[in-house]
Amino acid sequence: MLTGIHVAFIGGDARQLEVIKKCIQLDAIVTLIGFDNLESSFTGATKKPLTCDVLKDVDALILPIVGTDNDGFVESVFCSKPLQFLSEHAACLKKHCVVYTGMAKSYLKTLLLRQQITLVELLDRDEVAIYNSIPTVEGALMMAIQNTDITIHGSQVIVLGLGRTGMSLARSLHALGARVRVGARRPEHMARIHEMGLTPFHLSELRPQVANADIIFNTIPQLVITAEVIAQMPQATLIIDLASKPGGTDFRYAERRGIKALLAPGLPGIVAPKTAGQIIANTVSRLIADQSKDRGEPS
Ligand code: NAP
Repeated sequence: MLTGIHVAFIGGDARQLEVIKKCIQLDAIVTLIGFDNLESSFTGATKKPLTCDVLKDVDALILPIVGTDNDGFVESVFCSKPLQFLSEHAACLKKHCVVYTGMAKSYLKTLLLRQQITLVELLDRDEVAIYNSIPTVEGALMMAIQNTDITIHGSQVIVLGLGRTGMSLARSLHALGARVRVGARRPEHMARIHEMGLTPFHLSELRPQVANADIIFNTIPQLVITAEVIAQMPQATLIIDLASKPGGTDFRYAERRGIKALLAPGLPGIVAPKTAGQIIANTVSRLIADQSKDRGEPS
């Protein structure tokens, strides 16, 4: 339970509603900042403005998945007024307050570091990334189906990277009957790909591998699908780049060659906002409870 713990939310989208619900369910004191246009009202939550007076009593501050931009602006689909989290706001947080977000830009990191406030980036955590890989894979499959005229079953598919997303994706494609090759660089990844019944290849061999690829899914956040690689692909190859912006594809050259290359960020929030919100809600609520236990407060 989060009884007596003050949790404030600044902005967000449909995913944040699941986190708010969970915190109310666990009996936290919930303050909503930047939810002026939210139609459904949460019994047990209070809407407040973004002021020091509101922030000074907060134990946990929850920002949206993308945190702030590099000028401190926080996106909120529930608020038409701009919300800007400034250094003066960070300065009035209690020293034990923990700030949670999906991924923080350098602006937020610097601001909080200066005030010695703990920042937790949820998407960095293995458990969140692994759960999140489920809606990500569903979204990637949806994009593949929408952008090809062949079945996934029987198609020549390449997955780049055997991280948390790459592994779930490769496994799902295999289960759908695709011929899956996975490009990685570590020997232990090669062994795992082999163990999964898939075909491993070293990333240095990417150029010859793409010569008969129907679909290439990239999960590596580095430029791996270079112009030299794209030059070897058949024109009908579809590239779906899941890696965080700017992705790992030379999109300019792909367009020049007439090869369809799609950057697909934020799939969990697009295809399954409720599930994506519940994933965040479960982890955040557990972390806040742990945080209060560490301070020796009864829960
Ligand atoms: P991850 O577990 O860290 O996996 C990343 C993979 O990329 C690993 O296999 C890693 O291999 C490889 N890699 C990293 N740098 C490399 C380099 N320079 N050369 C070769 N391989 C390299 O990350 P993840 O959780 O799977 O996420 C992958 C990407 O997808 C991230 O950019 C993440 O932000 C993004 N993502 C997007 C969505 C979406 O909706 N589009 C959803 C979730 C995640 P090593 O272990 O050898 O480094």
